[in-house]
Amino acid sequence: MVQPPKAQRYGLPFPRRHLDRRAVSIVRQLQDAGFETYLVGGCVRDLLLGSRPKDFDIATSARPNQVRRIFRRSRIIGRRFKIVHVHMGREFYEVSTFRATPEENQGEEVETIKRDNEYGPSWEDAHRRDFTVNGLFLDPIAEEIVDWVDGMRDIEAGVLHTIGDPEVRFPEDPVRILRMIKFMRRLDLDPGDAEIRAAKAHAPRLSESAPARLAEEVFRLLATRQAAGVWEDVQALNLVQFLIPELQDWLRLDDEHGKELANRFKALDQMAADGFETDYSFSLAVLYGPWAEQEFHPAKRKIRVSEFSQVAAALTGEFQQRARLPRFAVTYANRILAAQLRLDPPEFLGAQGRRRWNFKGMAGQEWFPQALEYLKLRLIASGRDLDLYEDWREKALSLERKDS
Ligand code: ATP
Ligand code: MG
Repeated sequence: MVQPPKAQRYGLPFPRRHLDRRAVSIVRQLQDAGFETYLVGGCVRDLLLGSRPKDFDIATSARPNQVRRIFRRSRIIGRRFKIVHVHMGREFYEVSTFRATPEENQGEEVETIKRDNEYGPSWEDAHRRDFTVNGLFLDPIAEEIVDWVDGMRDIEAGVLHTIGDPEVRFPEDPVRILRMIKFMRRLDLDPGDAEIRAAKAHAPRLSESAPARLAEEVFRLLATRQAAGVWEDVQALNLVQFLIPELQDWLRLDDEHGKELANRFKALDQMAADGFETDYSFSLAVLYGPWAEQEFHPAKRKIRVSEFSQVAAALTGEFQQRARLPRFAVTYANRILAAQLRLDPPEFLGAQGRRRWNFKGMAGQEWFPQALEYLKLRLIASGRDLDLYEDWREKALSLERKDS
């Protein structure tokens, strides 16, 4: 067995009030019941980097059924790996039991075969995590950071290192390569040279990862507000072929295709900087937009504008099936794309594009606000002014006023 390493301990370098009151209360109750318990993962990292955490996750030595007994409003979730959702007010908090480091990670001295979901001591739970900045534990009662992985050093230096050798950690779970890009862009951290080398070398293993997990990370990458930078990294590492192979085929046809997509990502980032938040359907529309718009051209097929969302559906369909994307998100994405032909009819539509159509009908659709924002994105991406967008928006608003 590997000996437990010595933990570095640090006082909290930020005010205590940055901690979530309810999460602290959950930690306190577990500690009072005699269980070693910490705040862990992304929330510790974000607090140390000075941003507000999305959620506060808790890790404990208590087993799921023990956690369950302490909190009346709690529920055990998951089949293979059980965690507990503890409800407080309208929120819930994820409480997971410390997990052992999977065997691959412990070198050849391992005697017992361990599965990914076996419980273990807290230091092993820190070591099974992906990056050092994600492996820090925070004890809100003792008011200290417990660091088994040299995470504080890396936070202070602004660098992203895997816990252990990237040559081991990336092949073990290639999705970590995508997580590396996400964290380096979203948190502005520099990856180590070894990480970049290993990411390049092991990227083809991404084709072995579950498509649903890959898709999940693709959407998270597009939501970093740094989509243009992400796109550069994805291209530099040649990852599109593993993430969305059908899109890669289209990109290969013409260098302009990649540039057009890059412009959309830049526009998305610009809108994100102004507070716009993308979601599944909008991100899908961004990814497939330039390709779909080409497929709408009459040279490709001759159908009515009302049928264009079916064309878009044919493109996104493969991705949807492979990754089991939520059906409504894909449907909305296709509607957003098809709506562009009405809101901004291209030359090639001719008389068909100028024919009267029912704006009120479209403006009443749930996806309409996104279609409008997508028009804005296209205008920004192609360097046009926003008059068209403003006009439609004004029209939609006056409809709303009439209705209320
Ligand atoms: P985000 O802010 O995007 O949610 P996060 O760091 O909280 O980032 P999660 O996917 O929510 O990421 O995962 C929570 C924690 O679980 C991470 O901080 C990390 O410690 C660990 N983790 C997540 N995915 C992996 C993985 N593929 N391999 C190892 N550890 C992981
Ligand atoms: Mg998280």
